[in-house]
Amino acid sequence: MTTGTCLCGAVRYEVDGPFSFMGHCHCSMCRKAHGSIFVTWAAAPLAGFRWIQGEDAIERYESSPAGHRCFCRHCGAATPVFAESSVVVPAGTLDGDPGIRPQLHMFAASKAPGFEITDDLPQYPEWPPGFDVPGVPRPAPAAREGANGSSCLCGDMAWEVEGPPSMMFHCHCSRCRHARGAAFATNAFYALGQFRWIRGEGLAATYKVPEAQFFTQVFCRRCGGKGPRLLPEHDRVVLPVGPMEGPPGRAVDAHIYVGSKAPWDQITDLLPQFEERPTRR
Ligand SMILES: [Zn+2]
Ligand SMILES: [Zn+2]
Ligand SMILES: [Zn+2]
Repeated sequence: MTTGTCLCGAVRYEVDGPFSFMGHCHCSMCRKAHGSIFVTWAAAPLAGFRWIQGEDAIERYESSPAGHRCFCRHCGAATPVFAESSVVVPAGTLDGDPGIRPQLHMFAASKAPGFEITDDLPQYPEWPPGFDVPGVPRPAPAAREGANGSSCLCGDMAWEVEGPPSMMFHCHCSRCRHARGAAFATNAFYALGQFRWIRGEGLAATYKVPEAQFFTQVFCRRCGGKGPRLLPEHDRVVLPVGPMEGPPGRAVDAHIYVGSKAPWDQITDLLPQFEERPTRR
């Protein structure tokens, strides 16, 4: 039995395994909805699924005629979605070990610009064989030429940056995993002057973890897509890298908080790794 929780803890569920599938999805809709460079989904028989609490805190967004996305309206974290006889959970929201490991990469043809897949799992350009799901049109780019644009899943919230970030990390901490529903969150740090809202600033909802010093998730109220976090007092903007339409223009500095990574999350690239946060030199 495995439990899952959103970032704020309002939504909780449990799954009696065994899980039947686990795979990484690189599609642009997952990247916009979750803010991470890919999302890991795990499926189990519906019969073993149970809400513990918070079903009434869930917002549903119809992302296409064939599909929908669900998220906690308080914290923006993705919550499970349901197919005919199975439940599909964003694996980052799982608290324990689901007892299954990732099997493949899907939508590898739409992977985040500037990132490579470094493990040996099979890669499928779109749906893997056996997934009888129709394709859907993907959201269109938003930015001016020369800028790197991003938008949320519904497209009503959009922003852009110019120039490369000053830092970029893959963070594997438990908060990032629950916030993004993914193995880790990739965040890029910019100066305020590099950033511009294109539209939808008023749609941005903010959830700060009460016991945390800084940890805050920004998301679109309408679709749950992750957005920019502005810190004017530090002349800084922190952007989720997943929704970016172009490469960020800088290599990721390191994996951080690998000491708390999920049991199913395997790091296969050669970037530096820190158990917690990197120490300043
Ligand atoms: Zn929540
Ligand atoms: Zn996807
Ligand atoms: Zn949106």
